[in-house]
Amino acid sequence: MFDVIIAGCGPTGAMLAAELRLHDVRVLVLEKETEPVSFVRIVGLHIRSLELMAMRGLLDRVLQHGRRRPAGGFFAAIPKPVPKGLDSAYSYLLGIPQPVIEHLLEERATALGAQVRRGCAVAGFEQDDEGVTVELADGEQLRSRYLVGCDGGRSTVRKLLGVGFPGEPSRAETLMGEMEVGVPQEEIAAKVTEIREPHHRFWLRPFDQGVYSVLVPAAGVSDRAEPPTLEDFKQQLRTIAGTDFGVHSPRWLSRFGDATRLAERYRLGRVLLAGDAAHIHPPIGGQGLNLGVQDAFNLGWKLAAQIRGWAPETLLDTYPAERRPVAADVLDNTRAQIELLSTEPGPQAVRRLLTELMDFNEVNRHLMEKITAIGIRYDFGAGPDLLGRRLRDIDVKQGRLYGLLHRGRGLLLDRTERLTVGGWSDRVDYLADPAAELDVPCVLLRPDGHVAWIGDDQRDLDDHLSRWFGKPAD
Ligand SMILES: Cc1cc2nc3c(=O)[nH]c(=O)nc-3n(C[C@H](O)[C@H](O)[C@H](O)COP(=O)(O)OP(=O)(O)OC[C@H]3O[C@@H](n4cnc5c(N)ncnc54)[C@H](O)[C@@H]3O)c2cc1C
Repeated sequence: MFDVIIAGCGPTGAMLAAELRLHDVRVLVLEKETEPVSFVRIVGLHIRSLELMAMRGLLDRVLQHGRRRPAGGFFAAIPKPVPKGLDSAYSYLLGIPQPVIEHLLEERATALGAQVRRGCAVAGFEQDDEGVTVELADGEQLRSRYLVGCDGGRSTVRKLLGVGFPGEPSRAETLMGEMEVGVPQEEIAAKVTEIREPHHRFWLRPFDQGVYSVLVPAAGVSDRAEPPTLEDFKQQLRTIAGTDFGVHSPRWLSRFGDATRLAERYRLGRVLLAGDAAHIHPPIGGQGLNLGVQDAFNLGWKLAAQIRGWAPETLLDTYPAERRPVAADVLDNTRAQIELLSTEPGPQAVRRLLTELMDFNEVNRHLMEKITAIGIRYDFGAGPDLLGRRLRDIDVKQGRLYGLLHRGRGLLLDRTERLTVGGWSDRVDYLADPAAELDVPCVLLRPDGHVAWIGDDQRDLDDHLSRWFGKPAD
């Protein structure tokens, strides 16, 4: 009997397993592939994901494997500089191969004690009042108290659960890959600038030691079921640019569509969905993996609290209540970005207008906060603007705030030095620091770093500790 079975060891499943293990939850991850993927798509980790890594002490390791890039020009690939005033200690993008980040997350989950079984596809399940019986493709049955489907866009768990996945099917396909080029950089740069107006669904960007990232529409490229070839890329480049730039030696080639869908529900009884299993959208702005990892970060401590027995009755339902609107917002911003890549005169005019508007720092910053997820504010009721937002990594007397969150517990940061976490000290840490870089007297942080309470009154604090962390210990 496990506490939680996770279907899928992609970034979402691995992150969730690690979060659950921080609270000693017995976790089994079932992954249908026998080997980790070797496909080397580079993904961008945005600011909020980097903050999560810092909150769990994983950031230094992740940084060793990635390349930092400026946090600008993400929205519809409109080339704008990093906006001023981004409120984070980690205001950059980290480019990292997806298999590497997956490996680092899985390695962390197993180091913390999660079991990962590869070559095991979840094929069925049944839930009852006490738990879930999970059936594997070979007929083996396993039992757990909860099941989480982190099994990607074609999620078996979501389908078996009968949860609808409404949205739009793919309308436009795109080819993306990394390869070497046979002409000088200056020649490419001049040609690309000329073509990108109005072909925004096209780029040829220097990536790494002579390797270029190439993106071209897939229109006209034959069989969708077959993986794209270098010849497909050459053909599309010739059609758009009149030359194939001598591309050769591809590192990886892929093809993706712009289907956009959101699961109607994220939870049905003891079965939950997270990551691509719950939402899919085109990769413009590079948000999918980030969104999934952040779902897992939101869900992990809540599900652990449920299993440990201290969760307030409604805590687990705050996961869908908080995360589904976030995904809906990401879906919307990708829909908008896709429109802005169109070659039609209307969307081109809107793009020119938005390009002008983004010269206002506020506009540029708003879009950046959206894509990087640092602008999220959960609805925790009326209160100061900081309530429901994540707190940035501020200076505290022991060093940095995020250094105090490695164990995935709550934290009361008290400038008044008068308050106490009392009977919640087994779940919530306490730091008295009159000099903390805060302009409010005291904040209560959830394990995911979001501000759950602001104030200086012990009774009010106790109410909020109960709301998020259940009954105090005797
Ligand atoms: C071209 C392209 C570029 C992208 N760039 C970015 C980017 O820059 N930034 C970003 O954030 N995102 C990006 N994404 C999106 C990102 O790759 C996905 O959002 C991310 O992989 C989702 O993670 P996941 O763990 O939820 O699902 P997946 O990565 O799909 O993992 C699901 C796992 O479940 C397993 N599985 C499936 N069915 C079963 C089953 N029945 N039983 C057990 N296991 C099962 C699968 O084998 C897989 O390992 C990009 C996507 C594409 C196509």
